[in-house]
Amino acid sequence: MASKTLWETYTEEQKQAMEPFCEEYRQFLSRCKTERECVTEMIEMAKAHGYRDLGEIMARGERLQPGDKVYANNRGKMLALAQIGTRPFSHGLNILGAHIDSPRLDLKPNPLYEDSGLALLKTHYYGGIKKYQWVTLPLALHGVVAKKDGTVQKVVLGEDPSDPVVGISDILPHLGKDQATKPLGEAIPAESLNVCIGSIPLADEKEEPIKKNVLRLLEEKYGMTEDDFHSAEIEVVPAGPARHYGLDSSMLLGYGHDDRICAYTSLKAQLDCPDAETTAITLVVDKEEIGSVGATGMHSHYFENFVADILDAMGQYSDLTLRRTLAASRMLSSDVSVAFDPNFPEVCERMNSQFFAHGPVLHKYTGSRGKSGSNDATAEYIASLRHIFDEDDVKYQMGELGKVDQGGGGTIAYILAAYAMDVIDVGIPLHSMHAPYEVASKPDIYETYRAYKVFLQKM
Ligand code: MN
Ligand code: MN
Repeated sequence: MASKTLWETYTEEQKQAMEPFCEEYRQFLSRCKTERECVTEMIEMAKAHGYRDLGEIMARGERLQPGDKVYANNRGKMLALAQIGTRPFSHGLNILGAHIDSPRLDLKPNPLYEDSGLALLKTHYYGGIKKYQWVTLPLALHGVVAKKDGTVQKVVLGEDPSDPVVGISDILPHLGKDQATKPLGEAIPAESLNVCIGSIPLADEKEEPIKKNVLRLLEEKYGMTEDDFHSAEIEVVPAGPARHYGLDSSMLLGYGHDDRICAYTSLKAQLDCPDAETTAITLVVDKEEIGSVGATGMHSHYFENFVADILDAMGQYSDLTLRRTLAASRMLSSDVSVAFDPNFPEVCERMNSQFFAHGPVLHKYTGSRGKSGSNDATAEYIASLRHIFDEDDVKYQMGELGKVDQGGGGTIAYILAAYAMDVIDVGIPLHSMHAPYEVASKPDIYETYRAYKVFLQKM
């Protein structure tokens, strides 16, 4: 960390560009707390930059040309964007890939019950959370209720300042003797993460009057019945906007930086990319936090099919062209990492750590227990990135996700690498990753956007 921070090296012009960029991101993060909300907003942003629905283009039998910009929306939870370049597909694609799902609590299919004068909602946590962090916080409900008649009702409760919030209780310290002796991972059992949603009984109702009153309110507000929870996806997330952080406002605190911070910077790089010679792709995917599974996760064939559709719409499709295009491609797996934290220096090895305000971090490999499960980028690929970053004065760091044998983690990198393309993890270092509120440094956000843009333009 001997080098200067971006605060010291940024020009006045760069500093002035950074603030509004970060402010727009702060507002995006405050509004978009589910993968669906991210996709909806990102499509609007893309349309404003001339992107068109690939499905509609194909339905019209329209031919795609270099310079065309298209997007494809997978079930409202995964998005693929492409700007067609002038170079032949044999040169491959430049791909940015990030995820838009974040750790949270999901409502169970049968969530609502009444107990001891309260109405509560049962939850099942999603992704790697520390359960003790989710109690005694103001929480909001975000999601959708799909009804039998085919309509889909959006739910957002707890964000408008006039809205009530919901939450999960904890034991008072006075009675916490037994809890205090438990290991952190056991102090708050998963089945105690029940969200308190009401306490007024419905008048003249003998059986479960408080639950019935909540059902009455749900009917009033969202037109839903109790059975509609069966076909709902409602996520319990921290309530309220992302905030400037530090007396000097040098950082941003918010829910879901992992990985909306890299998804947002990737999308902005894609949208701000002038006519690139190489076809530029940005992928924002779902389900990374639970293993990239399902139809909207990176393991699905959606991306491959998207590239096949583009080749077809350009009159160039064949199975061999598709395979060769993918194998000739380059990808930045855009995901967050740990920023060295002086409160917990013992989990990192200082020489191979990343620090705030030193730009995006490149991880040659992630994984755990001897790089297991990682994508180990080639030396040659890293050299080509060093070259383009240095040429454009993009500041970056080389590091690892924590000390060897301390733990570890993975990203979507290895899934794309399976096409035999070059892939490396490049993203933004955070404090308190996976906590309800994560922290990022503002110049890292802006510098990562710059890095992604250079990648799309120069590779
Ligand atoms: Mn991530
Ligand atoms: Mn994560």
